[in-house]
Amino acid sequence: RLPPPSEIYLPLRANSKGVEFGDRTALAALVEETRAPIPPPDARPSVESRAAARPVLSPIDGAVVGHVVEADEAAARAAIATAARAFPEWSRTPFEARARMIERAADLIEARRGPLIALLQSEGGKTLDDALAEVREAADLCRYYAAQARILCADMPLPGPTGEANVLRRHGRGVFICISPWNFPLAIFIGQIAAALVAGNCVVAKPAEQTPLVAAMAIELLRESGVPKDVLHFAPGDGAIGAALVADPLAAGVVFTGSVEVAQRINRTLAERDGAIAPLIAETGGINAMIVDSTALIEQVVDDVMASAFRSAGQRCSALRLLCLQEEIAPLCLETLIGAARELRVGDPREIGTHVGPAIDAEAKAKLDAYLSRQRAAGRILYAGVAPSTGTFVAPHIVRLDRVDELQEEIFGPVLHVVTWRSERLSQLLTDIEASGYGLTLGMHTRIEQRIRALSHQASAGNIYVNRNMIGAVVGSQPFGGFGLSGTGPKAGGPDYLLRFLRETTLTINT
Ligand code: NAP
Repeated sequence: RLPPPSEIYLPLRANSKGVEFGDRTALAALVEETRAPIPPPDARPSVESRAAARPVLSPIDGAVVGHVVEADEAAARAAIATAARAFPEWSRTPFEARARMIERAADLIEARRGPLIALLQSEGGKTLDDALAEVREAADLCRYYAAQARILCADMPLPGPTGEANVLRRHGRGVFICISPWNFPLAIFIGQIAAALVAGNCVVAKPAEQTPLVAAMAIELLRESGVPKDVLHFAPGDGAIGAALVADPLAAGVVFTGSVEVAQRINRTLAERDGAIAPLIAETGGINAMIVDSTALIEQVVDDVMASAFRSAGQRCSALRLLCLQEEIAPLCLETLIGAARELRVGDPREIGTHVGPAIDAEAKAKLDAYLSRQRAAGRILYAGVAPSTGTFVAPHIVRLDRVDELQEEIFGPVLHVVTWRSERLSQLLTDIEASGYGLTLGMHTRIEQRIRALSHQASAGNIYVNRNMIGAVVGSQPFGGFGLSGTGPKAGGPDYLLRFLRETTLTINT
């Protein structure tokens, strides 16, 4: 039996218009927890580095949230070497003991939700509902992988000719390099590590350079849960540290979540380096579309589009980028959408009632601003919201396109593109969407059952959502991940994920 989802999510219910408070007392207690004073956080690598400490700045207002000492290349190499020495003993640790450690980590995540949420907000720019959902996902991933390890790491007796006993046995591979992005700095960071550790691997983990403090807190609680120091290493740093870790012949596997460009670079490095052939699990981006036909319920479409495109300021890999409206309903749907977009409040995500927080940093904001200027010059902006002029805020925008293939890259922010389609072109529309080469999420709003069946078979996307929003995949229920340019699989939070972290031995004994 798999574990039920964490219950810490109960006080809140989020929808496109913001957060509904199911239980105001529980909410007040939660907010109180996030405001309790905590020691100024700092992050340092597990092996000594010569780098000087640098401040970590909040995307909300540029305030110093804490400090990080980054790993240098020597520290990264030393971390892998130490982890490799710790591997034989960790690999012999019974899987039940490893699973219990990871479950303890889930308990600690829940117990520390206040400080974790506070950091996810100040360092990661998350709203309260996004931060709480991420804490919940982090705990769920730990419990799910612990439960999966109990299933997959147990010896599996196999049939054989008389006189022979056959057993399939699964073990860790060695040192796994875990490289994660800034947009889920807790859930993805700890999800990768929990999977690798519970499967019997040692780990060197590199968080994104924008979010080392949440990651440091996660490492601390994993250590408190009993994971030995030499088994789990922390290597905060930039892309060059990630590249050095991947290139090390002692790395037995890499799990990466981030952009497709970096995933391809890692793939090339692994192919060209010396040492064993190492597996790569890569989860990357998407140009995610939602197809809406004339039978859809417009109010529901609008709610779901708002959540899919603008929650987390559009900084989710699953976020809706391209809304495809059937011509007949496009005028009414767009008018209602723009009306709903006007209601979105952009600003400090620590204030309850804020819907859209900041872009992660000045570089991300500059990239989005430059893209939006080009769309403005082309006369394509249908709606431009308002955002504070300080910090790294980007206002929600709706951009009109004439053709699907005009959107060639993942625009990682609160920007929704809209195209229209005619009913006789539906099949071609799907082909055009797939031509991007990505295949992460796809939304569909229709009341025609036959169409749901046909499109869901024809569509090439890892996660297909019908008549609902396209974000917030639930661990164990909606295993998440795409294919093509969107990633290698197996799906995170799904039954096959751990298998890729394991090597298999078949033992045949002639009795
Ligand atoms: P990114 O720039 O690719 O960075 C991801 C991680 O890779 C960071 O830790 C980064 O370090 C590191 N890195 C950069 N260059 C590297 C190299 N040459 N070798 C090894 N590691 C390297 O992506 P991001 O901007 O953080 O995240 C946004 C992207 O992630 C979007 O494309 C989004 O769609 C995708 N994403 C996908 C999923 C999914 O489940 N499919 C989930 C979340 C996000 P630095 O930060 O220090 O550069």
